[in-house]
Formats: sequence, structure tokens, C-alpha cells
Amino acid sequence: MRPPRTAPPTSPGHVLAVLRNEGPLTRQELQDRIGLSRVTMVERLDLLHRLGLLRQTGHRASSGGRPAEILEANEAGRTALVADVGQRHATVAVVDLRGDVFAQVHRPLPVGHTPRETLSGLLATGRELLAETGRADTLCAMGLSVPGQIDHELGVTVAPPTMAAWQGVRLREPFSDALSVPVLLENDANALAFGAYCDLARPHAALVGVKVGTGIGAGLVISGHTHRGETSSAGEIGHIRIEGNEQRCDCGRRGCVSAIASGQAVIRQLRPTGVRTAEDVVRRVRAGNLEAIRVTAAAGRLVGTVLATVVTIVNPRYLRVGGAIGVLPPFLGALREAVLANAHTSARDGVDVDACVLGSNTTLAGVAGLVADEMLSPDAVDALVSAEASAVS
Ligand SMILES: [Zn+2]
Repeated sequence: MRPPRTAPPTSPGHVLAVLRNEGPLTRQELQDRIGLSRVTMVERLDLLHRLGLLRQTGHRASSGGRPAEILEANEAGRTALVADVGQRHATVAVVDLRGDVFAQVHRPLPVGHTPRETLSGLLATGRELLAETGRADTLCAMGLSVPGQIDHELGVTVAPPTMAAWQGVRLREPFSDALSVPVLLENDANALAFGAYCDLARPHAALVGVKVGTGIGAGLVISGHTHRGETSSAGEIGHIRIEGNEQRCDCGRRGCVSAIASGQAVIRQLRPTGVRTAEDVVRRVRAGNLEAIRVTAAAGRLVGTVLATVVTIVNPRYLRVGGAIGVLPPFLGALREAVLANAHTSARDGVDVDACVLGSNTTLAGVAGLVADEMLSPDAVDALVSAEASAVS
């Protein structure tokens, strides 16, 4: 984790941050917000412009005088490679820092896939996509989301038992060595929550995102930032224990939410009817199979009951649900009902419960948003400005 160094509030990086948060703005509006002299502001904007971080989007009529230029942060000039590795799939994409996707490849992964093959496959595909899109020259970072709790210091994941081979594997090095850019890591549920937040145009409101695929996880976005918690385990709702339930969970304990309501648990309950994979569950539910609908709805109800507590504590404006099982109508419908029935009245009345609109791309959008926030942070931009200045002198 980076040390908490606060940039001087009038630095070029700070000017860009104001434009990102409040823009587009005219130079005068920026001056008024930041309190810089005209001359210093022109200098700051010139520096940002030279780094390709600023662009003009039009003019605004001003009372008397010439129309004023409208400025915004240019998030389109820099490129990131983003990837999402799940238990059964991997997706890699080339995006700009607005999150616009230029190329993307989605691949199924075999059960028990190993990090060595999967990571080198992702790297090879990422390189191909960068070459295809002609954006390799503007690559500034890579972002990777994986299931499990992440140790950001070491750059490793505390992998779920179903991905035991990933336990403690260094995830950054294969990419940072090959691409010579910083590599950012995020838990998949946190990335999903942040993607839903970015998709809503970054509202000034708390958001809870829940991913129900093979496993179950949640992420919290509060005041524009992902709340990871002291040990990066905030939102691990899959391992909350449900009283009176003795089903063994793959974490080694009994009675976890995951053991009863995850995709894996739904598959297990439907196994006698021939279901083997999450895709089988999705197909049956969509075809109107009553048993599949019943089991899926029961899982949604349980997850909703747990989320009612989360909603009561966090009091979010948005609750967004993703993952192959989470977005199925019987699951989502039962989840919504359980939240509304069990959360505190005031919190319940204030929350909007819905599926992630971007579908499976929500996680990638979250990784892209994380990369943008990191690479365009005041500290990162000020470092770019200093590097540029020393290159010139
Ligand atoms: Zn568990």
C-alpha cells in the first residue's frame, strides 16, 4: 500500500483531481474552486496539457468578452490492460482510463486451473490485444481481479479452497516484469461493486455490490472509495455463519452462507436432477424448470436476509447484484424481498436493489476504474509532472 502522502492542494495533480470530480469546468471556474492566481493556473494547465491529461470540450458563452474554453480531464489518452480471473473463466481487455473497451477476450478455464498456465495465457492474450489495438505505447498500468482476500503488500491472494493452487502465488510479477508497468490487484467482489459504482457515474452515495457465482462475496463503495477493511476482508459475507445449519463449507467450517446459497451449493442441491455446472443452472432456470427455480430462489432469500443486515449497517443508496447466479430473476427477486422484509425501515426505504447492468463486464469496469483512480491520483500525476520536468531539464 502506498504511504498516505497528501499532495499540496494546488499542485497540477490536484487541479486534475478537481476536473475529474467536478468537471468539465472553465479555467475561471477552476481558479475559483482552487484559489490559484491566473498565471499559476495557466502554468498548471499547460503542464497537464503537455502530458496529454487535459482536453478542451467546447466553449461557454461568458458575460462580455470571449467565450470561455471548457476543460476536462483526458482519461482517453492512457491505456490499461485489465483482467478478471474466476474459478471457471478468465477475461482480458484493453481499455482506456474512462473504461472504454477496445478489445476483449473471454475464455472458459478448466477446473483446477493453475496460476502458471493461466497467468502466462493472460499475458500472451493481453499482448496480442495491445498489438491489435495499437495502444501498447500508451499502456500505463495493468489491473487484475481474482477471487479471495488479497494481501496488497505481498501481491498475493488468500485463494478460495476451490482455487488452492493460487494460494500465496505472486500475481504482479509475471505482468510487471513483462510489461514494465505497475500492476494493481483487487478482489473480484470489490471490483464488481466498484464497476457498478463507476457505471452509475460515480454517485455521491454508498453502494453495496454482491457477486454470486461459484462463491459469494460483497464489496462496499463508500465516499467514492472501496472499503477493504483492516485486513482486506470487508464484505466476505459468504462465510457468515447461519445458526441451525450444519452444511460443511469449503472453508472448513459448518453453516456458512456459501455452503447453502452459492452457485456451488445450488449445483449440489440440483445434482440429483442432472445439473453439473452453473451454466446448467442458468439454462434450467431460464427454461422455467420449477425445481431449479425453487432452489435458486431459496438461495436468493438467504443471501437477501444476510444483506438486510449489511443494508441496515451501511445504509447504502444502491445494492447491485452480479454473477451468473445472482442475476437470475428468481434469485434476485427473492433477495430483494428478503432485504425489504428484514432491513431497518429507513435503510430499506432508501435502497435501490437491482442487477448489475453491465453484466459480467461490471468487474472489468471496476478494475478499469481502480486503475484510473490510482494512475490519475494527485500523487501519481505530480510524479509524472516531476519526471517530465527532469526529462526536459
Ligand atoms: Zn465458509
